[in-house]
Amino acid sequence: MLRALRVTGGLDQARVVLDDRTPEPKAQPGEAIIRPRRVGVSEADLLLARTASDLTLGHEFVGVVEHVEPDETADRAGSGAVRNLVGKRVCGSISTFCRTCDMCRSGLSAHCRKRTVLGVSQRDGCFADLFALPVDNLVEAPESLDDDACVFAHQVSRALQLPQAVRIEGRPYVTVLGDNALALLTAQVLTRLNASVRVLGTVPERFALCEKWQVKHRHSDEAGRRQDQDIVVESTGDPGALALAMRLVRPRGTIVLQGMPAPIAVPAERQATLHADEAWSAPLSLTPVVSGELNIVGSRDGSIAEALAVMARAEIDVVSLITRRTKLSDGVEALRTAAQPEQIRVLMDA
Ligand SMILES: [Zn+2]
Repeated sequence: MLRALRVTGGLDQARVVLDDRTPEPKAQPGEAIIRPRRVGVSEADLLLARTASDLTLGHEFVGVVEHVEPDETADRAGSGAVRNLVGKRVCGSISTFCRTCDMCRSGLSAHCRKRTVLGVSQRDGCFADLFALPVDNLVEAPESLDDDACVFAHQVSRALQLPQAVRIEGRPYVTVLGDNALALLTAQVLTRLNASVRVLGTVPERFALCEKWQVKHRHSDEAGRRQDQDIVVESTGDPGALALAMRLVRPRGTIVLQGMPAPIAVPAERQATLHADEAWSAPLSLTPVVSGELNIVGSRDGSIAEALAVMARAEIDVVSLITRRTKLSDGVEALRTAAQPEQIRVLMDA
């Protein structure tokens, strides 16, 4: 029996429990069993703690492979034996893929029809003593990167994906909405491509980090709504922030959504993190999209290997985002702590 930080099915107070009678995960062919060394609590975990059911949380991890289940079909098909990563320290892409559906066959395995997502959708996550993920998802962590850095591989990959979705180079005015971990990582990535990038946030301590990284920043209350930004990146997932983005972006400009949008049922205190009067209270009007001929683009995860390489070259600072350390045994409390506004990233050790 294992420990796992699980969301239960009920809507009672104790939705998240540390269950110490969770059965061991069983590896499917081609899957690895991983023992996490360090994990990070993300905004998505807090959202899932309110909305999911019967799920082990967690998708930011660095861990050691304990077992690899051979895949005889893959061997027979000549697509190569499953890599033997036993004993290796790994990070991993959180979305699985099947290789056989129409999306996978057309090179869009990130959008596999049978996709499962670690700790998010149809796959138990890494806030546990052991968890399973396909070997194809895993990347060996470079020795030069410590566990603290490796935990951020997923979020850094999300930040790196954004310039794939929309061109940042040149002279467009770019605003990043939010000052959570994803926004701060994205701002660092984009500033290297375009010095005019600015962060609109609300927490003064985060502005000190922006100063350190030479990233422009402003309090969101002080931003003019002049519809003059070429690109607005929405990193928070707060539904109200899309309304703010539509007031900032110029006609024919682009809004990139990369924060996971919260369902409307999320209580107001989680929504009002950007600008109180733009918190979701009425149906969002999409009229500005039509009248301004706006582009709205979604951006999700990127390459874990690239994220590790960028961190290994010290091109991005992730360690400054760590605001608290605790252990899996205090996981319920860790989620509570992570929900406090002064926290950026709470890390847990096994
Ligand atoms: Zn597929």
